[in-house]
Amino acid sequence: MTRQLLTLLGATGTIGCNTLEVVALHPERYGVFALTAHRNVEKLAQQCRRFAPRVAVVDHAADAERLRLLLTVPGTPLETEILYGPDALCQVAAAPEAAIVMAAIVGAAGLAPTLAAARAGKRILLANKEALVMSGALLMDAVRASGAALLPVDSEHNAVFQSLPHHYSRQLAIAGVSRITLTASGGPFLHRALSDLARVTPEEACKHPNWVMGRKISVDSATMMNKGLELIEACWLFEAQPEQVDIVIHPESIVHSMVAYVDGSVIAQLGCPDMRTPIAYALAFPERIASGVPALDLPAVGALHFQALDLQRFPAVSLAYRAIRTGGTAPAILNAANEVAVAAFLEGHMRFDQIPALIARVMDALSPEPGDTLAGVLEADARSRACAAALIREQALP
Ligand code: NAD
Ligand code: MG
Repeated sequence: MTRQLLTLLGATGTIGCNTLEVVALHPERYGVFALTAHRNVEKLAQQCRRFAPRVAVVDHAADAERLRLLLTVPGTPLETEILYGPDALCQVAAAPEAAIVMAAIVGAAGLAPTLAAARAGKRILLANKEALVMSGALLMDAVRASGAALLPVDSEHNAVFQSLPHHYSRQLAIAGVSRITLTASGGPFLHRALSDLARVTPEEACKHPNWVMGRKISVDSATMMNKGLELIEACWLFEAQPEQVDIVIHPESIVHSMVAYVDGSVIAQLGCPDMRTPIAYALAFPERIASGVPALDLPAVGALHFQALDLQRFPAVSLAYRAIRTGGTAPAILNAANEVAVAAFLEGHMRFDQIPALIARVMDALSPEPGDTLAGVLEADARSRACAAALIREQALP
């Protein structure tokens, strides 16, 4: 088979590092065209030495210069071209040399390069759920128009994708599907007294029981806004109505999600909680390749538990149902307010339990627009950020 080259957006993050570990197991199948990072120049330099990408991208000119110094070996020409800034991200996402683009930037910053990859017809491995939440209609239209492939890396959506028929063409009814069930671990505060949530620290919120992840998604898992974003992600990826997607708590994170069919069958995907499995599946689909993940030992796991989701404990999920039902730019408003709230919580400017309350206030204050242009989506994102920041500044929080 011909060797394929990858652009890895967000190479220095948790998903980025896991992707490089899978790629390293298959040097005959995959090589690296471009690696991108925001600020972590040291880690990016290590990755460049190991994977020798043709291009590396950072955010600022000063970091590009630091990377150049770190990679310079006296007497030898630099193997890697170094670029910087948001336009460079779009450039490597659409570059003809790269057949595959891993979208693993966290948050709204990933939207433009993911859209660029979609317009260029790439095989996109989508971890950056915020991009799809913000601009579901635009991104799905771009994928359809260019013939790009959008393969979910998020473990739940990867599990749903694996549990749907291979010939699935985004029509649940024709495939005989009655429901999609996303599983949720419940995060670190599943059993914490509700009155204690006001005192939760960023360190506690980032300590997920089953997964090692970046700080933003870790806080999202603790509020369960992560599951809310995943509900919206599932509606776009599988053309489902919000009523067709439900959420069940499964604290062991072994069943990654499931699909129920009209005949009563339920097909689920199981595995150790390790992102290298969905990454390997999305990389090689429809083939299967080794991921480095150990085999699942069910007797060692012992028991699998399931319980209903308590929306009073996790109001963020209700906000996400409200946003996807409202449509237009409502999910972009939800996402941006959440990004601002999570950053403010991590910096000590607001309490954990104020996160969903702040998002609700922003959603009440702003009226959604159609959301069918990139300018419209970015405008909604900016309005929501400004509104959330003002509420935090004025301490106008419950
Ligand atoms: P992370 O914080 O570990 O890494 C984020 C990456 O994005 C880093 O490489 C960083 O340099 C880059 N980045 C951050 N801000 C940027 C900006 N403004 N411009 C350019 N690059 C920027 O996050 P992660 O845990 O790897 O998650 C990445 C994405 O994958 C998120 O959207 C998350 O929701 C999704 N995801 C993660 C997991 C997981 O297990 N970690 C699971 C499912 C989905
Ligand atoms: Mg997930």
